[in-house]
Parts: sequence; C-alpha cells; structure tokens
Amino acid sequence: MNKDVNIIKGKVGIIGMGPAGITASIYLKRFNIEPICFEKGEIGGKVNTTSEIENYPGYVGSVENLLNNFKTQLKNYNIDVRHETVEQVLLNDDETFKIVTDKAYYQFDAVLLATGLKEREYKIPNQETYNSLGISRCAVCDGNFYRNLPVCVVGGGNSAFEEALYLASICSKVTLINRRDEFRADKSLVDEFRSLKNTEVLTPFVISDSKGDMKLRHLTLTNPNDNTTREIDTEGLFIYVGSAPVSEFIKIDNLVNARGFVPTNNVMETSVKGFFVAGDCRDTPLRQIVTATNDGALASISIRKFLKEKNGK
Ligand SMILES: Cc1cc2nc3c(=O)[nH]c(=O)nc-3n(C[C@H](O)[C@H](O)[C@H](O)COP(=O)(O)OP(=O)(O)OC[C@H]3O[C@@H](n4cnc5c(N)ncnc54)[C@H](O)[C@@H]3O)c2cc1C
Repeated sequence: MNKDVNIIKGKVGIIGMGPAGITASIYLKRFNIEPICFEKGEIGGKVNTTSEIENYPGYVGSVENLLNNFKTQLKNYNIDVRHETVEQVLLNDDETFKIVTDKAYYQFDAVLLATGLKEREYKIPNQETYNSLGISRCAVCDGNFYRNLPVCVVGGGNSAFEEALYLASICSKVTLINRRDEFRADKSLVDEFRSLKNTEVLTPFVISDSKGDMKLRHLTLTNPNDNTTREIDTEGLFIYVGSAPVSEFIKIDNLVNARGFVPTNNVMETSVKGFFVAGDCRDTPLRQIVTATNDGALASISIRKFLKEKNGK
C-alpha cells in the first residue's frame, strides 16, 4: 500500500454508507457541511443482502430500486463517497480525529461511525443456495414471510430466544436448536419460550445438512456427543449465533465497551466530543432501515451543533 504522505483534511468523516451513513450525509449536505464518506463494500450496506423489504414506510418495490434510489440521491447531492476501507480511527492531541484508510490519511473535526453489525459465521451445507430462500438472520424483517408456517431458530442467547418468541407469535411452530444443553439466554426468556404450545427445544444439536427444492424445506440435525441424527421439516431457518458491532479499528481510549459498542445518548453523541455513532452498530433494541435512517438524521443535527460550537460554523 502506498499511502499519500499528505493528510487530507475535512470537517466530518462518515464511516459506512448503509442507510445510517447515507441519511447523515444527505442531511449534512443540506446543512452546507461537506462530509467525506468511506465505504468498503456496496452503497446501501446490509440492504444489499436482502431480496424483499416490506416494512420501510413509503417504500414499495424491489430492493434494487431502493438501492438505486440511495445512489441517485448521493449523486444528486454530489456527496463525496470514497471506496476505501477504514483501518484505524485515532484521537489527535488537538482533539481532531485521524482516520487511516487503505488508501490515505485523513483528519476530521468530527467522525460518524455507521459501520453496522457483523454476524458470527455459522456454516451449514447448502447455505448459499437457501440464503434469502428460507435462511434468514432477521425475524423482524422476514418473519412475516413465514406466517402460519413452521420455522427453526438456531442459537442459545437472548437474541435467539427474543426472536424465537416473536416468531412463535406468528408461525405455526418454532423449533429452537442449540449445540449445548445450556443456554446463554436469561432463564425467564427460556422459560417463556418453553411454556408456549407451538414451541420445541432441541439440544444438543448442530445442523449437519439442509435440503429443499426452490427453497429450504428440510434440516438434518446431528447430536455432537453421540453422532445420532434427527430429521426435521421446516420452511425457514433463522440464525442467531451472535453478532458484534464493527468497531475494532477504533483506537481511542475508553470509547468502545467490552461488547464492542460505543455507548451513545439519544442524539447519537458519545463520551468523546466530536465522535458520533448511528445505525445497527449502536447498542439498540431494533435494527432496521427505519431506525438506521432515524439515527443518521439525529446524528447530523448533533454534528452540526458540535461544529458550530467548535468552529463557529
Ligand atoms: C437478510 C436481511 C434482511 C433485512 N431485511 C430488512 C427489512 O425488510 N426491513 C428493514 O427495515 N431492515 C431490514 N434489514 C436490516 C437493515 O438492512 C439494517 O438494519 C440496515 O441496513 C442498517 O443500516 P446501517 O447503515 O446501520 O448499517 P449497514 O447497512 O450494515 O451498513 C454499514 C456499512 O458500513 C460499511 N463498513 C463497515 N466497516 C467499514 C470500514 N472499516 N470501512 C468502510 N466501510 C465500512 C459496510 O460495508 C456497510 O456498507 C435486513 C437485514 C438483513 C441482514
């Protein structure tokens, strides 16, 4: 890598151009503040990984249209999006921020972290075939497609049980599969799930095969202790084996907590002045497009206020 020795200076650096970062960039631009935005993958973030969106108010149509609209809006506002991966964020002595990407060094008065969440990998045979065709990682997003149908959930933490409880309220049957007999989830959640008539808990099992036609229809489970197997018909599989915010590149003391989150208040400010967080990478009870855009808009207001106080802008 041949990084430019010059440091590129700007007012605001936005890391991540999913719905949160896109929204913040549009609002900032409308405040006459020019952000420099970094995206290591596709504009639109996680929206690229789904095929149907039915719960974003005012939006009806294909996901492709939504993604194209995001890009058109960025273009119309002439927003500076750089396809670079952020590798480090540091706090300078003068309380500005240094961002190191795979291509250059930057210095900003304010930084918005909008990098989303990364899910822990969970590999099952034929996963690529059935991704979005029976396999999902978002019950609130996709649960409705399985209304009155049997589904499975894999995982043993609070998220797995919370989402399984939601699915149990709309699906004909929910089977929770966990590789251990013990659960990390709170006992009250486990008890509530077990108490429902349309639920079943299968442990200790891992998913050793998946089959279907145009979509997922069947799972083979294997007991890791004795290798016995069990066959189960299902219309959907929701994977909840853990996730973490994308924050490992932040090198600022006392900002990131033990779970990888940067705590924020309700206007996206953090304990470090000038550092803001929005979207799925926040410690938040709901991760959707609507919450990410909400966060991005609020963050822009806070960034504007911060810059005004700092620079009199
Ligand atoms: C399968 C699936 C289906 C979904 N369906 C729905 C639905 O129907 N309705 C709904 O409202 N929501 C849905 N969601 C959730 C929705 O997609 C997310 O809540 C939303 O995209 C979060 O936006 P975000 O901007 O916070 O993060 P993301 O969309 O995750 O965007 C973060 C961006 O940051 C970039 N990034 C990360 N690290 C770096 C780095 N170091 N340098 C540069 N860039 C970086 C990433 O490449 C990414 O583009 C679904 C999610 C999934 C996975």
